[in-house]
Amino acid sequence: PGTLRVVLGDQCSRGLASLRDLDPARDVVLLAEVRGECTYVRHHKQKIVLVLSAMRHFAKALAARGVTVDYIRLDDPANTGTLAGEVARAAARHRPDAICCTHPGEWRVQEDMRGWEAATGIPVEIREDDRFLCDLGWFRRWAQGKDGGKKQLRMEFFYREMRKQTGFLMEDASPAGGAWNYDAENRKRLGPGIAPPPPRRFPPDAITREVMALVEARFPGHFGSLEGFAWPVTAQQAEQALADFITHRLADFGDYQDAMATGEPVLFHALVSTSLNTGLLLPRQCCEAAEAALRQAKAPLNAVEGFIRQILGWREYVRGIYWLKMPDYAGLNALEATRPLPWFFWSGETRLNCLRQAIAQTRDLAYAHHIQRLMVTGNFALIAGLDPAQVNEWYMVVYADAFEWVELPNTHGMVLHADGGMLASKPYAASGAYINRMSDYCRGCDYDVKQSTGPTACPMNALYWDFIARHDRRFGSNPRMAMPLNTLRKMAPERVAALRATAQAFLAGPEMAPEP
Ligand code: FAD
Ligand code: SF4
Repeated sequence: PGTLRVVLGDQCSRGLASLRDLDPARDVVLLAEVRGECTYVRHHKQKIVLVLSAMRHFAKALAARGVTVDYIRLDDPANTGTLAGEVARAAARHRPDAICCTHPGEWRVQEDMRGWEAATGIPVEIREDDRFLCDLGWFRRWAQGKDGGKKQLRMEFFYREMRKQTGFLMEDASPAGGAWNYDAENRKRLGPGIAPPPPRRFPPDAITREVMALVEARFPGHFGSLEGFAWPVTAQQAEQALADFITHRLADFGDYQDAMATGEPVLFHALVSTSLNTGLLLPRQCCEAAEAALRQAKAPLNAVEGFIRQILGWREYVRGIYWLKMPDYAGLNALEATRPLPWFFWSGETRLNCLRQAIAQTRDLAYAHHIQRLMVTGNFALIAGLDPAQVNEWYMVVYADAFEWVELPNTHGMVLHADGGMLASKPYAASGAYINRMSDYCRGCDYDVKQSTGPTACPMNALYWDFIARHDRRFGSNPRMAMPLNTLRKMAPERVAALRATAQAFLAGPEMAPEP
């Protein structure tokens, strides 16, 4: 007997820590499709297909290299439906000397994994997941700071450290071009005549089609449509998707990073999160490819820096926060928001055009780009005071790239400010004016973005001011909120009352019903 090497669905990486010293003559790799992982929230059907298909392709590639793979299918009658159950059965089948795995992405699975040794009586080694660019021990030390605890953690400072550590976009000890961040250049609206090139699609092969049929049969009630499934499911496809982005969209990624447009679900975004989060692509590969494009003058610095910041900065930062603050993080509700999620988040049936567009594309593609998640669905959830637990569940359900370590800090921290500002220094609240500036959504809307009070006024406007007024005391000590607070304080009391009455009328109206 050798080692049983357990590989999880989001660990489909050839160089995975737990596979590195694999001995094909003695070791067995276990991959198990378990019902529990598909249903702990009712994931979008495309997410389930993505993960199961990636696992099946990965197992096939391992077997082709002479590795013994023990693959448990979802519809295997003996399948226990849980990871712990499948590890225990595999341990009984193979009687290994040891079990080796790579640190999981989610707290829930870590807790489960920690019980495997006691359950099987076999030593379990859990290796650090070094596919990430930031080591969790280093993050903890950075977060604790020299004086034993930074008051505030800020992505920007973390990101600079990561630039220095990895050397990405560095010229000796200085940042390329003289600045760390070119975000100020990245706020263009999509003008007329600018047509983003359609991204490369990966139509399902026979393996994926078989998984699609299985998912339709087993999870018919889950959110979303499978029709347009076109995600990469192998490392080779993921590399092709990255190359497609670098060649055709990276150059404009910076300029239009914050833009939104009707009928343009992707714009100049990379579409790499599903591949990164399942391990088909590594963050280092993405940063290297972008940096190479800069060297070859195929993309400008503001685009390359913007893209690298998302991966080397935001992605690693939210993971660090997740492991630093869990499990308590998930239960925080600093703004005491309790309103139930309105039904239209599931149905897409709402008169607010910006939300209708974002939700419809989410249902069809299991994808919305960052600004839609942050400034449309997220902003609405924040200013309407929706219950963080329900909002969180929604974000976990609806995206193909949703994994708790990245979804939770983005939702709880960046969007809802439920962590009281641990992750981001101020809430990203905005009125309809922001959406109107960055998109064409308002032109197709029943509501009037220029009005703030009354039944035809854009609800985002009144909700925004109601949100600021609701929390004026709390935000009073935050210098980054001084501007809206000053504006509110200068408003005539009747104006504030009219805004708040409009907000209350909307919140009590039929759009906000939590049931169909
Ligand atoms: P691009 O815009 O092209 O960015 C490139 C890559 O940078 C992304 O693939 C991603 O890996 C990384 N990235 C960008 N922004 C972030 C961020 N804020 N946090 C972490 N990584 C980032 N991303 C997920 O991968 N899974 C999630 O479950 C998820 N949930 C989110 C929930 C909310 C409320 C918000 C506001 C953002 C969430 N994000 C999540 C981050 C981001 O929106 C997605 O990574 C991005 O839209 C994926 O599309 P893309 O590959 O085209 O990204
Ligand atoms: Fe959204 Fe308001 Fe614009 Fe309508 S008018 S699309 S609700 S921001």
